[in-house]
Amino acid sequence: MDKLTVSEIYASIQGESSYTGFPCVFVRLTGCPLRCRWCDTAHAFKGGKETTVDDVLAQVLEHNIQVVELTGGEPLAQEHTPALMQLLIDAGKTVLIETGGSEDISRLPAKAHVIMDIKCPGSKMHDRNLWSNIEVLKPTDEVKFVIADQADFDWAISVIHEFRLDEKCQILISPAFGLMDPKDLAELVVGTKLNIRMQLQIHKYIWNPKAKGV
Ligand code: SF4
Repeated sequence: MDKLTVSEIYASIQGESSYTGFPCVFVRLTGCPLRCRWCDTAHAFKGGKETTVDDVLAQVLEHNIQVVELTGGEPLAQEHTPALMQLLIDAGKTVLIETGGSEDISRLPAKAHVIMDIKCPGSKMHDRNLWSNIEVLKPTDEVKFVIADQADFDWAISVIHEFRLDEKCQILISPAFGLMDPKDLAELVVGTKLNIRMQLQIHKYIWNPKAKGV
């Protein structure tokens, strides 16, 4: 039986992406091969509970909420994540996956909404970006840059131009929480005149930014 190692399953408000504000069931999977400098989910690096894919599906369906997000850690570091996503899609759910961009997204179901980081130099993980993922992005997918400083911002804009990313899918620009002042980032975003979208992680403004399960 296919199994996943699960850190937590909980209902909350979707706090970032174009689904911001919707009620959402989060399936946080354990483990991540990266170590971003500003990571806010280090509690999901270890531990967790081995759970069958069918059991995860049943726990999600109990919440009776339309939007479901697989997150981590890195949800694509586990083999059976795509199988769970397909089951959720078959059950009629809107399925999001938040991935760090170092794992192959081509194995995901076509109806999945991919929210993929491209790691900037400030994360110290930018050499782990799997650039071939850009070729398989769909117009309904979203690419997110987390910006720690002006150098990260300049780097992100050069990547957007190089790959014409703003013509492929939605672009999200987030300040690294506690490192980049949102007002400064807002000014930079306006200055680009590009069709890109700045976002804040609203769950960190509603609840304690260090809390688990929000
Ligand atoms: S990819 Fe995500 S979970 Fe992994 S270290 Fe970076 S921010 Fe943390």
